[in-house]
Amino acid sequence: MGVPLLDLKAQYAAIKPEVQAQVQEVFDSQYFILGPKVVELEEAVAAYSHAKHAVGVSSGTDALLIALMAADIGPGDEVITTPYSFFATAGSIARVGATPVFVDIDPVTFNIDPARIEAVVSAKTRAVIPVHLYGQCADMDPIMEIAKRHKLVVIEDAAQAIGAEYKGRRAGSIGDYGCFSFFPSKNLGGAGDGGMVVTNDDGYAETLRALRVHGGEQKYYHRVIGGNFRLDALQAAVLNVKLKYLDSWTKGRQENADTYRELFHDAGLVSDKTVCLQNGCVDWPNCGLKGGAGVLLPDLVMDRHIYNQFVIRVDRRDELREHLVERGIGHEVYYPVSFHEQECFTYLDYKQGDFPASECAAGTSLALPIYPELTEQQQREVVDAIKEFFR
Ligand SMILES: *Cc1c(COP(=O)(O)O)cnc(C)c1O
Repeated sequence: MGVPLLDLKAQYAAIKPEVQAQVQEVFDSQYFILGPKVVELEEAVAAYSHAKHAVGVSSGTDALLIALMAADIGPGDEVITTPYSFFATAGSIARVGATPVFVDIDPVTFNIDPARIEAVVSAKTRAVIPVHLYGQCADMDPIMEIAKRHKLVVIEDAAQAIGAEYKGRRAGSIGDYGCFSFFPSKNLGGAGDGGMVVTNDDGYAETLRALRVHGGEQKYYHRVIGGNFRLDALQAAVLNVKLKYLDSWTKGRQENADTYRELFHDAGLVSDKTVCLQNGCVDWPNCGLKGGAGVLLPDLVMDRHIYNQFVIRVDRRDELREHLVERGIGHEVYYPVSFHEQECFTYLDYKQGDFPASECAAGTSLALPIYPELTEQQQREVVDAIKEFFR
């Protein structure tokens, strides 16, 4: 039978008439760039994220880029971030001419370990970019404290975490800037590329709005050098519809996560993670995960986790992948190579072994289907296939 990693057709089927009506409106208006649909989405996302301002941009990548530009970060500056994320997090830092400085992750949450940040703060450090990976927030209180002490800008990469919460605060609203992506596979996904930056600062919002249109808020007069970072009205029209369903979809993902936990426990497949993660993975690759016949389940540390991904860890991950391909079970590895081992970053002079927790995650993590429309029967099929592999 098989189970896809993500089934966007199932989601679309439920909202098709509403989406089509909205898209039709945009075509009838022939107003395609920014405009009222984008303003409507900006207001809705700002409210949803508990932020004062939201600025619609062309992608999540551009959200990071424009935030770095707004913070005036460039050559000679250092920006601290995680080595374990989607490429855009580190790529954007390099693209503005700054130097990415990596800090290993907390192996339980997969997010930057705040306890390791201060050791790499230098006179050149200007900003820190925590990523709320898979939909669970990074530990923001200590990060904000360090940032305050060293006058660093905090840019949250919340591309996978719209609506996630940290101690009751929404992802994106805690730092100076929060960046969202509307890539179709994100929890709030458009019909193409799109993104948004949220901020609580009036001045930052004004700069972002100027940078989005080549720095010329008043047409043809340029205060700063920006770019074309505009969001399309068509994307906003689709997203305005989908945002109304986001909480119910998130609930579906959370329920599916609970179901996986039950199914994996019932199948006797859950390993004891205290064996290997507690020491920050310093024993990787000869740690407790080695030879383990079972899975480590993702820990729910920061409520509210929105489960953009449900990521387990396993030994013999790549062999398991082959087995899952045979069984038609969708899965993915986010991400197989940490930033410090990427070819394009050899100039940063990191080496294998520098970030063991990140390297362990890259070698053992496996994302399973978690989309809201997934049925319990499908989840059983996923768990049964994994059980079959470890038997
Ligand atoms: C998706 C993603 C981005 C980039 O978003 P795009 O809209 O694809 O450009 C950035 N950071 C993280 C963590 C992401 O998951």
